Amino acid sequence: MSRPRATYDNHFNPPDETSMDAGRVAKWALWHSQSDDPEMCCVVCGSLIPIPLGPEPLWPERRRWGRRLEPATGPCAELESMEYQVYPSVAVSLYRAILDQPSEGPPQVLGIALCQIGIPGEPRSVHRDSQTATTWTGPETVEDLCVPFHVADILGPDINREQGRLVGYTIHMPCWVLLNRVIGKGLLEANLSVLLRTVESHWRANRSHWLTLGIIYGYEEHASGVLPWVKRPPMTPFGGGGGGVDHDWRCLETVTNSAVVPEIRAVIEKAERNQAGNRSRRRGQHVSARVPIEVVMMIVEAIYKDPGYGSGGITDTQHLLAAFAWHLPDWYWQARCHPWLIFEVRDLMRANRVVDWEDLCLGVEGLLCNHHWYYHSGLRNRARIVRWIERIRDGFMSRLDRNGGGEG
Ligand SMILES: [Zn+2]
Repeated sequence: MSRPRATYDNHFNPPDETSMDAGRVAKWALWHSQSDDPEMCCVVCGSLIPIPLGPEPLWPERRRWGRRLEPATGPCAELESMEYQVYPSVAVSLYRAILDQPSEGPPQVLGIALCQIGIPGEPRSVHRDSQTATTWTGPETVEDLCVPFHVADILGPDINREQGRLVGYTIHMPCWVLLNRVIGKGLLEANLSVLLRTVESHWRANRSHWLTLGIIYGYEEHASGVLPWVKRPPMTPFGGGGGGVDHDWRCLETVTNSAVVPEIRAVIEKAERNQAGNRSRRRGQHVSARVPIEVVMMIVEAIYKDPGYGSGGITDTQHLLAAFAWHLPDWYWQARCHPWLIFEVRDLMRANRVVDWEDLCLGVEGLLCNHHWYYHSGLRNRARIVRWIERIRDGFMSRLDRNGGGEG
């Protein structure tokens, strides 16, 4: 049985040959034409792991990580939390692997590696320590530090596995971060076999979503997006091309960093600086503060639920609350911050951090209603991935239940 191959013309449509995206397509095509193993695809989100862009140092923010062709190692946690402002798509060129070969023992999570052009018949290799990343693996590093493996063919049959070779399930670095956040690191690492069998069955049931490239066409925004009632204006991928409103918002870019969204971090830092003190003192200084909180909420919700909600609605809300000295409870703003998606908000809530929640919520909404930003943001990609993870989590938990709570 032949396994599916990515069809570049169908999934990726760069506007011109000089764009960075055209360069990416060329590299992808070169890599895939040379590799005998299955495409290196993320078993969490179903998108390919691309070869990185950029001839210069990949991470100018952290020069000690070296240039691309210089071996370098360092802590995974640092790469996972970096912002990659010069080449944001580098984040999805970094990947982890989970080794699986029953004769070699239980599955094992490896460190982080940078996607390289494949050599026919040659295995990939990733640092054997799950806490350590290598940005390049030359001959001198492979034997000592890294584990060679062949990319698992999760739609099977897997020829490498049948021939006794070590196979690895590859995962985008940001997708592993999200997976750990949704399911929990301890539970995952104690049940890696269950996870691997779950993703196999998940993608066999969703073959049409496997092996997506830089852009997914036909993405159902209403199913995974936020503020679904807000009318989104026409948006075109890569700033070119045509198509109607519906078609355009049904395109989604998969090469954005879903784990680290710098603008969300900036909104949180500002809200932390503001803190809640000033706003709390505001309450009670005006006779209108006696209006029941339920009534205030209804008025604010009416603005929020308008299909035209955006920067104007946000400003109206701020002015209204300030003019009448109204103060809504933190829980109201926290619920409006989409904590199911914006895990940074959950972190603040769990840590009981003192922040100005009204400022934080309206700041987040300012981003969500900045249509150009949201369209190209990692947050929109995160919504897509978290929805997949929720389905994987359900399958994972069902298998655990059938197994009596664990791998035993
Ligand atoms: Zn992924």
